[in-house]
Amino acid sequence: MFNKWTFEGGIHIPYNKRLTQSLPIENYPLPQKIVVPVLMHIGAPAKVVVKVGDNVSKGQCVAEADGFVSSPAFSSISGIVSSIGMFKHISGKLVTGVEITADGRNDELRFEPIKNWREQSPSILMRRIGDCGIVGMGGAGFPTQVKLLPHRDKKVNALIINAAECEPYLTTDHRLMLEETDKILKGVKILQKILSVRYVFISIEKNKTDAIYVMKKKATTKEYYGIKIIPLETKYPQGGEKQLISTVLNREVPSGKLPIDAACVVLNVASAAAVCDAVLEGIPLTERVITVTGNAVKRPGNYIVPIGTYVKEILEYCRTDFSKIKKVIAGGPMMGKSLPDICVPVMKQTSGLLVLDTITPSYSKNNCINCGNCVKACSIHLVPSLLAKYFEKDMYEEALKRNVMDCMECGCCSYVCPAKINILHRIRTCKSYITQKRAKESLTQVK
Ligand code: SF4
Ligand code: SF4
Repeated sequence: MFNKWTFEGGIHIPYNKRLTQSLPIENYPLPQKIVVPVLMHIGAPAKVVVKVGDNVSKGQCVAEADGFVSSPAFSSISGIVSSIGMFKHISGKLVTGVEITADGRNDELRFEPIKNWREQSPSILMRRIGDCGIVGMGGAGFPTQVKLLPHRDKKVNALIINAAECEPYLTTDHRLMLEETDKILKGVKILQKILSVRYVFISIEKNKTDAIYVMKKKATTKEYYGIKIIPLETKYPQGGEKQLISTVLNREVPSGKLPIDAACVVLNVASAAAVCDAVLEGIPLTERVITVTGNAVKRPGNYIVPIGTYVKEILEYCRTDFSKIKKVIAGGPMMGKSLPDICVPVMKQTSGLLVLDTITPSYSKNNCINCGNCVKACSIHLVPSLLAKYFEKDMYEEALKRNVMDCMECGCCSYVCPAKINILHRIRTCKSYITQKRAKESLTQVK
């Protein structure tokens, strides 16, 4: 069957990855102080299990999972719990956090390694992944063990590892594939065993030729039988779950549904590496690779950073010219979060810090010229111009009927609009209005 390994819609954007793509992963020095937020995942916040004055080791749980969709958080350094309270969070809100001041001992706690993982049941492996706090490290932060759970009426027959890294500037997954190839592939085999799927696809955008080469070379060995490397067209948002499923499997996730409804699970490549650490070494998720980049950064690179390190400290370490900063984004420029304050800790799902010294032209109040560019760009077949108009006229029901909640907030529509209308902002606000309205209605019903 002929397959172009791409999806309908999307956009081609300048990638700006050259600043860091050839820079090997470096260790970031141990911070003096970290803050571990209880919310670094989708779901219920974790529950703090330490108190001020406690000595903690690296890898010690400081907040345990509190609910079905929740994930524990660990100290990434050894030290003393110096404060527990509300701290600024990447989301812009105040969130409970555990502040730890380093004691220089750097002792570490690990779980018992499960070297004989092939003989273990899926439930034991899943429990380890949950205990180690593995979440989607590409940005979403969905607890990985929840994605792996079997569903009574839904069968999974494919696993896609998302290594597309389609956001401009980010190179963490790329470097990880070059430098930790075996760790990723071992993690993938563990995930394959848990899901009991015959084939696994690792999807990588074609602009990472070296990563495709090394991954393919290793994946064809006997040890990794059943793993297929899929080179994808370089196009944004190729790393979206729905786009990947459409590209790799030629299946569509129905409106309002999840990948599991297309008999598939999608996991990030960095999470696969973390799964290997958790199962084979007993290491909980305490650090991650992030890309620090942008023209104002004099020492851009890919760094292994302890989770909880302050963004400001990292930027100082990377010799950022603070006088030039116009904007700092956590993640990529398309779907990342612009930070109103840089005194916030790095989280499990922070894939990069992008420091912009210029800001792209601002949006205007021009009228829509019905050019249709946004419709062509939308990879999930929405009509963004219409959704934006519905929002302006408070026509939320109509927006709902036109599947506004399916919008993945990729920003392609705003990017291509010649009238410079901030379509994404309108759609996002419309979605949040509908979500709040639904929450209020369900609260009234409960009362
Ligand atoms: S932001 Fe939403 S509406 Fe706009 S292109 Fe992306 S998915 Fe479509
Ligand atoms: S791209 Fe802009 S101008 Fe063109 S149809 Fe969409 S909203 Fe209207």
